[in-house]
Amino acid sequence: MKSFPKKFNLLEIEEKWQKNWEEMGIYRFNRAEDSRPSFTIDTPPPYPSGNFHMGNVLNWTYIDALARYKRMRGYNVLFPQGWDCHGLPTEIKTEETYKIKKTDLPPAEFVKLCKQLINKYITIMKKAIIRLGCSVDWTTEYKTMNPNYWKNTQLSFIQLHKKGLIYKGTHPISWCTSCETAIADAEVEHEQKEGTLHYIKFKLEDGNHLTIATTRPELLPACVTVAVNPQDERYKRYIGKNIYVPIADRQVKIIAERTVDPKFGTGVLMICTYGDKADVKAVTTHKLPSIILIDDKGKMNQNAGKYAGLTAKQAKKAVVADLEQADLLEKTEPHSQEVGTCWRCKTPIEILEHEQWFMKTRIFTEQVKKNTHEVTWYPDNMKKRMIDWANSLDWDWVISRQRIFATPMPIWYCTKCNEVIIAEPDWVPIDPRNEPPKTGKCPKCGSTKFTPETDVLDTWFDSSITCAVHAGWPDNKDWQKLFPADVHPSGYDIIRTWAYYLMVRSLALFDEKPYKSVLINGMVLGTDGRKMSKSLGNFVSTPEVFSKYGADAPRQWATSGGATGSDIPFRWEDIEYAWRFLRKLWNASRFAGIHLKDYNPNQKPAKLELIDRWLLSKMEQVTRKVTEALENCQFNVATDEIRKFTWHSFCDNYLEAVKHRLYQPETYGNEKREAAQYTLYTTIYRIIQLLAPVSPHITEELYQIMFADDKKHESIHVSQWPTIQKELIDDETEKSGDLIVAVMGEIRRDKAENQKPLNAPIQKLTLYSEDKETVEVLCQAEEDLAGTCKIEKMEVILAKGKGKELQGYPDIHFIAEY
Ligand SMILES: [Zn+2]
Ligand SMILES: [Zn+2]
Repeated sequence: MKSFPKKFNLLEIEEKWQKNWEEMGIYRFNRAEDSRPSFTIDTPPPYPSGNFHMGNVLNWTYIDALARYKRMRGYNVLFPQGWDCHGLPTEIKTEETYKIKKTDLPPAEFVKLCKQLINKYITIMKKAIIRLGCSVDWTTEYKTMNPNYWKNTQLSFIQLHKKGLIYKGTHPISWCTSCETAIADAEVEHEQKEGTLHYIKFKLEDGNHLTIATTRPELLPACVTVAVNPQDERYKRYIGKNIYVPIADRQVKIIAERTVDPKFGTGVLMICTYGDKADVKAVTTHKLPSIILIDDKGKMNQNAGKYAGLTAKQAKKAVVADLEQADLLEKTEPHSQEVGTCWRCKTPIEILEHEQWFMKTRIFTEQVKKNTHEVTWYPDNMKKRMIDWANSLDWDWVISRQRIFATPMPIWYCTKCNEVIIAEPDWVPIDPRNEPPKTGKCPKCGSTKFTPETDVLDTWFDSSITCAVHAGWPDNKDWQKLFPADVHPSGYDIIRTWAYYLMVRSLALFDEKPYKSVLINGMVLGTDGRKMSKSLGNFVSTPEVFSKYGADAPRQWATSGGATGSDIPFRWEDIEYAWRFLRKLWNASRFAGIHLKDYNPNQKPAKLELIDRWLLSKMEQVTRKVTEALENCQFNVATDEIRKFTWHSFCDNYLEAVKHRLYQPETYGNEKREAAQYTLYTTIYRIIQLLAPVSPHITEELYQIMFADDKKHESIHVSQWPTIQKELIDDETEKSGDLIVAVMGEIRRDKAENQKPLNAPIQKLTLYSEDKETVEVLCQAEEDLAGTCKIEKMEVILAKGKGKELQGYPDIHFIAEY
C-alpha cells in the first residue's frame, strides 16, 4: 500500500489519470483478439459546434459508464469517436466568422475555410470529451469531411444505386427558402402558429358562389381544383361543375375527395400546388396539373402574374387587398395551425417541385418496424417513436442538397447526350467537380465532355453508416464480426433521423439491422427546469462545471439525475452532493489506509464479528443490485445504490463501529482488529470497483494507492467486475446487524439530547427485550456496542422494557446512566 497524499485535489488527480490512461493505451480496441468477446459501441459522431454542452455530458457519461462496465465484465470494447462535419450550420458559421458570402469565392476555397473552422471546433470538443474522462479509443478518430470517409459515403451511394434503390426524379419536396435547399421529412419540425383564415368567394357559372376558407390566399394563382367531400349533402350537387378561381381568373372543376373535412372552414377546399402534403396527394390521385408559384428564394415567380417578385408574405397582403377590392373576401378569423418549419432556421417550409436524388426508403417500412421490435431499447417505450416515425413517412428520402460543404455525389452527365455516369466502386473517393469519370469518355456516345453533379449529399447520408464503418466496413474483410453494433447511444430527439436512417440504410445495404440495442438519453434542462438556453439565463457551460468540480462529480449528476431516457435538470446541488460524496469516500479510504499499513491481504481472519458479516452481506447485495442495474442501463439505480451503501452502511455505521478494534488491539485483541482490517479492505475495493464506471478518476487513484501492489491490474478499469459471493449474503445477519446499528444510532441521539459529547462515557447501559433471540444478538455484539458507544458496563435483560424505547423496535427499551 502506498501512502495517501497530504491534500485531496480531485482536479489534479483527474487530469493526471486522463494523461496516464492515454499513455497506457488501456482503452485500445484489439481487432485481432479472439480470447475475449467484443462489445461495439456506435458512438454518434457529434456535429462539431465548438460547444460540448451539458447534454453532451449526459450522453457521453452514459456511453462511457457502459463502456467501462463492459470492459470490466471482460469484453474487448470498441469505443470509437468520429466527427460529423458537413452541413449547413458550418457553412453559415464560416460565413459569419470570415465575414464572407459563400458565393464570394470558389467552392474549393470556401470548403477550405469550413474545414479550418471545423478543425478548430473539433479540438475544443475533443478536449472536453477527454476532460470528462471518456475511455475513447482515440486511434479510431475520423472526420466525415475527409476523403477517406467520403469513400465510405460514396461507396454506399454507388451500392444502393446498383441495387436500384436510388433514383433521380422531379417530385414535390420540402424546401427551405432561407437555406435554399431541399430538406428531408426528418428535418421538418412542426410548430403551432397563429394565422388567419380567409373566407373567399369562388363564383359559380350560375352566378352563385361557394365560399372557401384558406390560410394561404397568396396561393390562389396555383389553385388547380376545388374539392368537396362526396358525403357532404351541402355540396354534393356541385361535383363536376365549373368554378372560377378569383385572382387567377381561371375556371377549374369541382371534384369529390374523401379526405376533405366537412368541418374545416366551409367544407369546400381549394387544392393548390402546393400548400401542404394533402395537396400533393390530391394532385397524384386526381392526376391534376401543378403550377409552381414560389421560387427557391421564397419569391413569387412569373406564374404569380402581377404578384411576381413579391415574397410570399407580401403577396398574401396584396392578394387580400385585391380580394377586398373585388368584394370577394367574406370575412377573416384567427386560426391556429401546425406549420412545418426548417429544423435549422425555423422558416416555414414550402413544397416545391425540383429534380432531386432520392433513396427509396418507404419500401423498407415493414422491415424497419420488424427490426425495431427485435432491437432492445433502453428504455423500452422509446421504440414507439421509431415505429410512429416509420409509419408517418409519405415520401422517399431526398438525399441531394444544394450546398457546398458536403460529400460530393459521385455523378457526371455527358454534355453531349445527357447520359448519367455514376462512379464505379474503385473510383472513390472522388470529387466530380474536379475530376472527370475514370473511363474518360461517355459509355453511350463516346464524348469526352462532362458536366459534374454539383448537388451534394445530405449530411445524414454520411452519418447513417457509422455502425458499419466502426465495424471496419468496407476495408476490413471480417467487419461483419463486429456488426451489428452492440449498442447505438443517442438522444430521443434524433431517433427519427439517426436511429431511423441507420436502420433503413443498413437494411438496404446489408440486409441486416445496424444495432442490437439503442441507449436513449433525455435532454438536459436549465437550472430552473425550463429548456436550457443562454437567453433564459439558466444556461451552464461545461468549462464552468469542469473547472470547479472536475468530471467525477458531474458524471454522478448525469447518471443519477433521472431514469434513462428522461429529461434531467441541471442542478448545482446534485454536483455539490456528488462532490461531498467523493470527499467522504476519499477520507474514509485514507482513514482505512492508516489502519491497513500492516495488513496482509493474503491472510483471511479466523473469525468475523457480527457487524463485519453484516457489512459484507450488504456489500454482496449492493453488488447484485448495481450489476443488475448496469446490465439494464439503469445508471441512476446503480449510482444511488453505491452511494447509499458507501455513505450510510460503510462510512456512517461500519467505520464508527470498528474504530475501537482498530485503535486498541491491546484491549480487543489482534484477531478482532484483523477482522476489521479484512472487512475494510474488501469493502473499499468493492466500492471503488462498483463506482469505477461512473466516477473513473477517484476510483483509479484509490486503487493505485491501496490495491495495485496486491491486485496487480494495470488499472482498476481493466480489473474484473466482482462476482457475487452468495454465501456471504445472509438475511439473519443483516437483520441482526441492523439492530446493532440502530442501538448505536439511538445512543448517539441520547447523548445529544443529554448534551453530552459523542465520546462521553456511559457508566451503565441496560437493554431490555422480551425476545430471547434479540437478547442473544445484543449480547453477541456487546463488545462492539460497548467499544463504539464508550459503555463502561452493559447489561442485557430478558424482560419487559423499562426506560426509553428504541426507535423502530417497540420491543426494545434501554436506560443509559452517565
Ligand atoms: Zn432553413
Ligand atoms: Zn454521351
